Amino acid sequence: MKEQIYTIPLNEAFEKDSECPFCELQKKLEAEVLDYVLGPSYMEEDIRTETNKLGFCRYHYDKIFNAKNRLGAALMVSTHMLKVNGDLEKLLDEEKAEKPRGFLKKKNAESPFLKYSEELQGGCYACKRESGRMDSYFYTFFYLWKTEEEFRQKVASCKGFCIEHLARIIDESRSRLGAADRQALLDTVIPLQKENMKRVKEELDWFVKKFDYRFHDEPWGNSKDALERAILKLSGTLLRSDPREAE
Ligand SMILES: [Zn+2]
Ligand SMILES: [Zn+2]
Repeated sequence: MKEQIYTIPLNEAFEKDSECPFCELQKKLEAEVLDYVLGPSYMEEDIRTETNKLGFCRYHYDKIFNAKNRLGAALMVSTHMLKVNGDLEKLLDEEKAEKPRGFLKKKNAESPFLKYSEELQGGCYACKRESGRMDSYFYTFFYLWKTEEEFRQKVASCKGFCIEHLARIIDESRSRLGAADRQALLDTVIPLQKENMKRVKEELDWFVKKFDYRFHDEPWGNSKDALERAILKLSGTLLRSDPREAE
């Protein structure tokens, strides 16, 4: 099957004991993208041209800075900075040369340099690469839902999703599925999500109770990491830097 490159990781993510299979995929993807960016591929001309142009977001700069390859990071940042410095020469001189236009000046007119800064902060080679791969995973999710009963079973027995990824499933199902397939999906994931949100809330409540001396000797049950999992359900973000799996 030509889609295998995406179906295998998707199947694996749904088999894993996780609060959101798509967050699992995103976490794996993030590690791969980081390896890719800091690996030898970055020496390739077309990739280097793109990283030079886009740079990285704050989140990925942090990851790159803390990755083991400081030299690779320094070389990449250095060539990106060369590009930015070139842009700055031109843009800052233009800002300096611009004359105030008095009452004719539009109140909300944005300075070209602010626009440049916003574009620079908003662009990120790693985010762009990750989001392209995530698009393919969502595409494959609907493809498998339509074609494989076995995959439907896997979805039915997972622990639901984070809010963001559930919203994406619901939204994309409108354009990617026919009425019957969409209905079957909603009938599966909506009760699943409600049930699992309640479960995590209960686990979190038990986590809180464990701070009360009266419950001190009671067993933790599944609640030891309930706070991480509750935050994950709500925002998905904590899993991106899951401390339990930090090495
Ligand atoms: Zn998620
Ligand atoms: Zn980024």
